[in-house]
Amino acid sequence: MIVASPAWAAPKDRPICGFGEVRFDIDFPSARLNECARTGPDEYSLGVMPEATPINASPWYAFKVMAASTRMISVYLHYGVHSHRYPPKISKDGKTWTLLDRSDYQILFAGKTLQLSLVAGPQPLYIAAQEIIDNRYYEQWADGLAQLEYVEKSLLGKSPNNHSIFKLVSAGQGKEWVLIVGRQHPPELTGALALLPFVETLLADSDLARQFRQRFNLLIVPNLNPDGVAAGNWRYNMNGIDLNRDWGLFTQVEIALVRDELLRRFARTDQRLVLGLDFHSTGEDVFYTQQDDTTLYLPGFTRDWLEYIAGQLPNYRVKREATNNPGLPTFKTYLSGAYSIPAITYEVGDNTDRQLITRVARTGARGMMRVLLNEN
Ligand SMILES: [Zn+2]
Repeated sequence: MIVASPAWAAPKDRPICGFGEVRFDIDFPSARLNECARTGPDEYSLGVMPEATPINASPWYAFKVMAASTRMISVYLHYGVHSHRYPPKISKDGKTWTLLDRSDYQILFAGKTLQLSLVAGPQPLYIAAQEIIDNRYYEQWADGLAQLEYVEKSLLGKSPNNHSIFKLVSAGQGKEWVLIVGRQHPPELTGALALLPFVETLLADSDLARQFRQRFNLLIVPNLNPDGVAAGNWRYNMNGIDLNRDWGLFTQVEIALVRDELLRRFARTDQRLVLGLDFHSTGEDVFYTQQDDTTLYLPGFTRDWLEYIAGQLPNYRVKREATNNPGLPTFKTYLSGAYSIPAITYEVGDNTDRQLITRVARTGARGMMRVLLNEN
């Protein structure tokens, strides 16, 4: 049973984090900081709590610090009983991020505490578990794509906290559809960093993409958990539910909206879903797939697709696991069962080089288009 923590019950409660010269703040989307205290001259103890427990060890933190005059401060960021996952990133504007220098942080107490040495000054310094891609970023990105005449952005529905869940559709004369979803798990930023260039490549004005879109349609829901993204949740939506354990159950609005969209498009028509991709992050780059030749449609797609990526990127190790979580109500299991199609969890390592994420994503998108064009 999942038990809501105080932070989850009152996500908007902000701790008092002003200490004279130094102030911590969480007045921006995706911020998370649940406790703070001063423990010495220029030494502070901060804490983050998950939205509900039990939960996997993905402590998400995001806050900013300011000081009246520039000074070095030491921050102990406590995760409670949970273990460290994300090395700290810093930013001056909340948009451009760099990894904090390795000599400026330590992981202490068996991974339960992160100690940071920070230079605080009058300009805010943002500190976060990963780069921040918030709901507004997705909206602006999608609005940009929707300028293309062949891309339509529209509302899929509203989340429990009344955030918009939008979809992008590219539909031509073809009858076959590819479904792409992302951000079921809010802190999984590297999955988002892959989804964005992957989708851009599919929607590009290239010969391959034009040819692809003549035959295949796209349904894209890049940000399926906007409540969790806004609140800086570690994993769940605002009901404390793991959305990637709700496929087939459909107890949560976010997932039911996608099901309804699929039913509306594919029940009693000659339109057909042929492939599903779901972007996530974990410890390493890995594709969770079905076994080959187990789906009615595109039985060899996954093998051919991953071979293409490996062939294009000889120095990149394409890792595939065809047996992950077979019995759980995930996107992958539901889609492949209900539609007898390949449905793949595209996992990106938390610490994978950001340029490599983009390169693999663009290569993966080109490979997907080539393989689909050849196999049908
Ligand atoms: Zn995930």
